[in-house]
Order: sequence, then C-alpha cells, then structure tokens
Amino acid sequence: MIVVYGWRSPAVDLSIPFHPHPLPPSLEQWQDPTDSGDYFDQIAPPRFGHLVWSSFPVRVYIESPTDPGAENWRDLVLDAVMDWNPYLPIEVIEDSDRAEIQIFRRRPPLQPGNLRASSAEARYQLFKAITGKDSYILGHRFTIWLSPTQSGKYITAATRHEFGHALGIWGHSPMETDVMYYSQVREPPPISPRDVNTLRRIYEQPTQLGWLNVRAQEPE
Ligand SMILES: [Zn+2]
Repeated sequence: MIVVYGWRSPAVDLSIPFHPHPLPPSLEQWQDPTDSGDYFDQIAPPRFGHLVWSSFPVRVYIESPTDPGAENWRDLVLDAVMDWNPYLPIEVIEDSDRAEIQIFRRRPPLQPGNLRASSAEARYQLFKAITGKDSYILGHRFTIWLSPTQSGKYITAATRHEFGHALGIWGHSPMETDVMYYSQVREPPPISPRDVNTLRRIYEQPTQLGWLNVRAQEPE
C-alpha cells in the first residue's frame, strides 16, 4: 500500500467540495448477521477523499503469465478477485488500457527511500479527465503487483488483501481473522463481515473522486 506522487499525479484543488456517491446496491443490501463491527477508524484516506469507485462494474485486468510454474496463477488470482464481487460488481477484461485496476505477476518496483522489497503491493495514480475550461473529473487507477515468489494459498491471500486496498480500504485491520490484517498469516481468512462493514462505511464517505469538479472563477 504505497502512494505514488509522481509526474503523473495532478495537483488537487482542496477548495472544491467533497460529496459521497450513492451507495452501490450490493453494499446497500449487505447485512452483517454477526454484528461484528468494523475497523473504519484504521482507514486513512488521501487528502482528496476516500478511494471509492463510482461507476460499476469496476474493470479489472489480470496478466496471463506464460512462465513455467505460473500455469494456475491467473485462475487463483481471478478467484480471489471475484471473492469481492458480491460486495462491489467487478468485470474482468482483456484490454489492460481500459482497466481501472491492473494486476501483474511481478515484483513490486522498489521505491526511493524504501529499499525493502515487498511480496505484494497496491499503488494508485490520479488523473484529471478535463471536461471544460475550468472543469474536470478527478479519477484514479490502481496497479497491483504480486511477486512470482508466492504460490498457492499465499497468492490467494495476497490478491484478496491487495484488491481490498484497490477497492478503497486504505488501512489495515488489527484482527488476523480479517483479510485486511496488516500481516500475512498461516491460514489466510476469507473476506470477513468486518471487512465488508468497513468497505460499506468507506463507500458512504465524501470524496472528490468521480465527480465533476468546477473551479470557481476568480473575480476580475
Ligand atoms: Zn496492506
């Protein structure tokens, strides 16, 4: 979970209002039979608001590696991605350029100042879709890297976890029975009611992402 403020990230005008998007029906209808709470207080959204998607299904590209030993990699990743589909609609597409979340079987690139390589990582980039002289839609895009050194259930666990970040869960759970627990565990858990409760609260929050943003004209 790393933020890249590189040359591609535009300046964000924080004077522009923040609004919540309508809750997707799949989250609106979600009910937690166990009443197990959430870890929303652990979520630290970026300055421009929560990293929510606002048009569905979310388009996802999954690399098809041809390396020896990677034969079942894509199937494992696909299954783990689709574990989130009951909560937010997901569509897996073949055209990586059109994807909002891209998943690759590669080592996460090293960052300056952080020379410790991780085995899996999700990063986002921002862009402005210009719609007029003073108006734009602030958008984001996620890339997930899954290290080729991982296999079996660890691919599943890492995919579920990093995909949770890419769906907007920008923080970690303190409980190891949640997918978004900060560390890898011996027996990776399924998506928990606490994960979904947290996701739902995030999608109720205001953001600048996905809205038409209009800068007020300066008085002349
Ligand atoms: Zn994480």
